Amino acid sequence: MDRLVLLGSKGGPAVRSGGPWPSSSLLEIGGRTIVVDCGLGVTRALTDAGVSLNALDLIFVTHLHSDHVLELGPLIHTAWTAGLATPVTVFGPPGTGYYWQCFCQAMEFDIEIRIIDEGRPDIRDLITVEEFGEGAVLDERGLTVAALRVDHPPVTDCFALRFEQSGKSVVFSADTAFFPPLAEFAKAADILVHEAMLEEGVERLVARTGNGARLREHLLASHSFADEAGRIASDAGVTRLVLNHLIPADDPAIGEDDWIDAVRKTWSGDLTIARDGLVVGLGGQKAASGEETA
Ligand SMILES: [Zn+2]
Ligand SMILES: [Zn+2]
Repeated sequence: MDRLVLLGSKGGPAVRSGGPWPSSSLLEIGGRTIVVDCGLGVTRALTDAGVSLNALDLIFVTHLHSDHVLELGPLIHTAWTAGLATPVTVFGPPGTGYYWQCFCQAMEFDIEIRIIDEGRPDIRDLITVEEFGEGAVLDERGLTVAALRVDHPPVTDCFALRFEQSGKSVVFSADTAFFPPLAEFAKAADILVHEAMLEEGVERLVARTGNGARLREHLLASHSFADEAGRIASDAGVTRLVLNHLIPADDPAIGEDDWIDAVRKTWSGDLTIARDGLVVGLGGQKAASGEETA
């Protein structure tokens, strides 16, 4: 069954007891197992979602902020020790190849010893890293992927991604300030997964953070408020909007109703507020458990 699973739903790299985890998503579409972003916790969340790690197929990284890439190497390495024997392609912005090369160097002792001692294939031969820019990224067995450079200063290589297979389409905004060209890029998609901040939550977050003024400046310049995500979804005419990469994500004073109130100013269609492990069915199929129906 085709499905989207929001593995990690918070924005930013810090984790707190009982709170949600950084960015990663699973897209199962047309028999492909696709991971989008590899924030901390992606490996555990994939196994919790019932995915066999040695079935990993395609990995996409939207940009090299740690809340999207920190666990890329550990995910692949763990899949390898779980029996991965088929090639995996990692698509990421410029710099992804360097990350992977350095990860393999850092883990060289373990990799070499497992090849010799356990007879495993060389992990460095199983993985291909394809660095991409804006435009067409992949066209393979009916799956097409396209990228759009979004507005996430000071990061310049940050890309929204559009996945299409058998008439179904899912778009990820990546991290971005309000960026009107995303509406055209996400045109008529079945699902738009868009990042979101909540204004009053940001003020509370800034107030309790040491480096508050700088943090506030960064957030406002490089992320979108929930109503801005709703504006993109409305202009694009998507079927369902998923608010994800939530900032703040672990403020006990902020609940799902606050997010819904904020986004309903600009979006009246199907809506999902992400939480870790939430399953969203694709193409009108029913998800097995935990499916959001709001
Ligand atoms: Zn992020
Ligand atoms: Zn970012």
